[in-house]
Amino acid sequence: MEFDPPRAPEFEGFFAGLGRQELCFPRCNGCRRFHWYPMKHCPHCQGSDIGWQTVAGPAHLYSWTVVRYAFDPDFAGQLPYTVALVAFAEAPGVRLVSNLIEIEPQELEIGLALEPQFPGDERVLFRSAPTRA
Ligand SMILES: [Zn+2]
Repeated sequence: MEFDPPRAPEFEGFFAGLGRQELCFPRCNGCRRFHWYPMKHCPHCQGSDIGWQTVAGPAHLYSWTVVRYAFDPDFAGQLPYTVALVAFAEAPGVRLVSNLIEIEPQELEIGLALEPQFPGDERVLFRSAPTRA
């Protein structure tokens, strides 16, 4: 299945990061806070000096929904699938919408440690991360 969403120019830093197998989010150089989605002005201080910051640290499951009905027939073969809100310890306030893989719905819980997977097609997916002792 081909999924080719239109790409707004303000997302270029995010997709450039994916090309390097990195997650990058906009961070204001004035107040140093992150935001998501990309914006021309910082939603916290209204500054316009915004850069891209690579976020390498741990991710966790903020919330999710399990999709069991294909509103678009193209997705029928993938049911059920999980759409997640993923949060990042290094990027407070960022919650990225993504898909979870290799995790059964009954395993899902808020705060579940996640790690990114970069399939090389300009997506990022997340799977359960090994928990550290
Ligand atoms: Zn700011």
